[in-house]
Amino acid sequence: MNEMTKISRAQRPYSPAAAKFIARKPQLFINNEWVDSSHGATIEVEDPSSGKIIGQVVDASDRDVDRAVAAARAAFDDGRWSGLAPMARERIMHRLADLLEANADEFAEIEAIDNGKPKGMAAAVDIPGAISQLRFMAGWASKVAGETTAPYTMPAGTVFSYTLKEPVGVCAQIVPWNFPLLMAALKISPALAAGCTLVLKPAEQTSLTALRLADLIVEAGFPAGVFNVITGNGHTAGDRMVKHPDVDKVAFTGSTEIGKLINKNATDTLKHVTLELGGKSPVVVMPDVDVASTAPGVAGAIFFNAGQVCVAGSRLYAHRSVFDQVLEGMAATAPFWAPRPSLDPEAHMGAIISKEQHDKVMGYIAAGKRDGASVAMGGDAPSSEGGYYVNPTILVDVNPQMSVVREEIFGPVVVAQRFDDLDEVAKSANDTAYGLGAGIWTKNVATMHKLASKIKAGTVWGNCHAVIDTALPFGGYKQSGIGHEQGRLGIEAYLETKTVIIQL
Ligand code: ADP
Repeated sequence: MNEMTKISRAQRPYSPAAAKFIARKPQLFINNEWVDSSHGATIEVEDPSSGKIIGQVVDASDRDVDRAVAAARAAFDDGRWSGLAPMARERIMHRLADLLEANADEFAEIEAIDNGKPKGMAAAVDIPGAISQLRFMAGWASKVAGETTAPYTMPAGTVFSYTLKEPVGVCAQIVPWNFPLLMAALKISPALAAGCTLVLKPAEQTSLTALRLADLIVEAGFPAGVFNVITGNGHTAGDRMVKHPDVDKVAFTGSTEIGKLINKNATDTLKHVTLELGGKSPVVVMPDVDVASTAPGVAGAIFFNAGQVCVAGSRLYAHRSVFDQVLEGMAATAPFWAPRPSLDPEAHMGAIISKEQHDKVMGYIAAGKRDGASVAMGGDAPSSEGGYYVNPTILVDVNPQMSVVREEIFGPVVVAQRFDDLDEVAKSANDTAYGLGAGIWTKNVATMHKLASKIKAGTVWGNCHAVIDTALPFGGYKQSGIGHEQGRLGIEAYLETKTVIIQL
């Protein structure tokens, strides 16, 4: 811990390119143009590493949203995008990925400044992840196909039938602040590949990389109106998007609470809805593991991105025989995860997104202690010059009724519990309203498969955590979501299926 107190938490200077971009006039991207809002309202952009206000973005009005939706509607209805040859759509998407690659360093810096995550993490995970989403989905543009059945004869004549896969239409895409560009890419990539048009709304805390991405849209060659960006608050701009009669589909990633609200609000116009929501993902450590390699993995499962990950391994179940060693091994990683400003090259964990979220995380730790939990590591906020830091934290002596065990904290806090046998731990792992991810650490293949089938979660990791394969679907069981992103199911979520039956 002494190591941690010596760390300077003063944010480092921004590069000239990032500083210039951040200082830009607040505008919206509609119809391939930068336009002023219909009113003067703005949202402050804060650097969570320093707590300083560094810029402004538009707080979009209803009229701004209507304008963006109208642009997307017109672009969809005249087929300027869906009517392009699939390979042409694919090429434009790859061009966008190329441009992102060419500007990766600037994107990583802007993401780090805006979100508080280490620039090195953004450069290693967020930006390449976004590029992978674009490239993977680009390929689907030319591979989407329907089915045909053999013609057959009825008394009235011969019938020939087939299905057409058609883009769903205008998509409202609303993303959270934890992986701003990556979440945006997860949304826009299948929509664009399918031939949809869209209005993207980044989270009010982290709008910068979505706006920077818009700069590349024209250069990549997208026709006007296909991709539009609205910045603004959820309960105003986001709400307008969800209820808008000219929007055909809503895709949302965020909290379960807002996901439920969005699902309700989209009902009046019966929009297609996909939701990727919260989690309280269990991580199970079996007695046969090599503790030396498992403990850092289990620590990474919760401390990566300061625990602000929907699949964060926030409930640790370690077998009684290895529990103490696993915790010791995790505690040894504390200096590695010591929070630092996002532009510190040595940072592996950055700041929490906002004061509000910082206070919420500290509030959970306090509630855990009040309920009888003990702090095995961290449990406090380190000294800093502004900024919102929380030390990586392990809570023990917890029970299943405590809020720290039941609720999504969305911070670097893991609750650790002991177990004795497989059925018991499967039951504990499933004792949650969520079902997004789960981790299993064992060398025993049979145990791995048995547990993987027992745990009710959309993704189960074995001896790793939060690894993403763009070719495979990602989605939640129970209150963690509806529908899937990525893989074949990811593109399907942006397609209508039309059956055509013709009497020849
Ligand atoms: P978090 O709790 O992680 O901040 P939220 O679920 O509140 O996440 O927000 C995720 C995204 O949803 C953000 O882009 C936010 O602006 C948007 N949002 C919040 N409330 C609404 C709403 N009522 N309708 C539409 N979008 C919303």
